[in-house]
Amino acid sequence: MHIRILGSGQDAGIPQIGCSCSICQVARNDSNYWRFGPSIAVIDDMNGTFIIIDASPDLKYQLEVLREMYPGIGDIKTSLKGILLTHAHFGHCFGLWHLGRESLSTLDVPVFCTSRMKLFMEDNYPFDQLVRGNNIKIIEVADNREFEINGVGFNLFAVPHRNEVADTVGYVIDSGRKIGYFPDVDYWTRSITEIIKSVDIALLDGTFYTRDELDRFDEVPHPPVLDTIKLLGNVGNRIIFTHINHTNPLNLDGRERKYVESRGFDIASDGMIIEI
Ligand SMILES: [Zn+2]
Ligand SMILES: [Zn+2]
Ligand SMILES: [Zn+2]
Repeated sequence: MHIRILGSGQDAGIPQIGCSCSICQVARNDSNYWRFGPSIAVIDDMNGTFIIIDASPDLKYQLEVLREMYPGIGDIKTSLKGILLTHAHFGHCFGLWHLGRESLSTLDVPVFCTSRMKLFMEDNYPFDQLVRGNNIKIIEVADNREFEINGVGFNLFAVPHRNEVADTVGYVIDSGRKIGYFPDVDYWTRSITEIIKSVDIALLDGTFYTRDELDRFDEVPHPPVLDTIKLLGNVGNRIIFTHINHTNPLNLDGRERKYVESRGFDIASDGMIIEI
């Protein structure tokens, strides 16, 4: 069993639409620097099935790449065993649209989320259409209560984030090894920090390297990578930064990347594989 990172970018991915910053220009000239919207797949190599966490708007392309890498996955409609949502922001759930009848036209794909997120989807287009059309079957899961999909344990934990229409969570995956997935938060609370320290591997919000990277940081706060490194110090488990914004110098091969790596932290890339 392993995790494959389907997308390591912030919601809009890299290059970001309409942006001509130096990093987006580098990415336009070299697709090695591209990042799709945030998502991971938990893949069962034994039977070619998979679960995804976060349904980014790039889902269509992400699943094409996945199928190319793992021909054993076969028919997406039967091998996709579930989708876990972290929250309602564009980059994390709009990929569900691809399940509708204009596209993949799935039948009852289990979608796991909180009760607030479930209410939001049942009441709002186009998610309500997916529910009524039986493309998805929403399964409400409660905070800190373990559940199982396809033989893998999951647990969800609320995190502080801009919750305009629903709430936000991160997940711990338990396949014998524990993997934390907390891609999008405003800041690290003490309880989430304890969870991060307790898992074997953690994929964490690495949106910004520092807080002065964006004029409107206060409107869209995230824990800067430098602060997270300071907070976690030498925890000893594997930490991988993901949900990386186009403004983040970690996109390039400069001194910032060298510093993060020298401290023992990793930077996610699309296609990265994590054995679990
Ligand atoms: Zn996001
Ligand atoms: Zn840019
Ligand atoms: Zn968000």
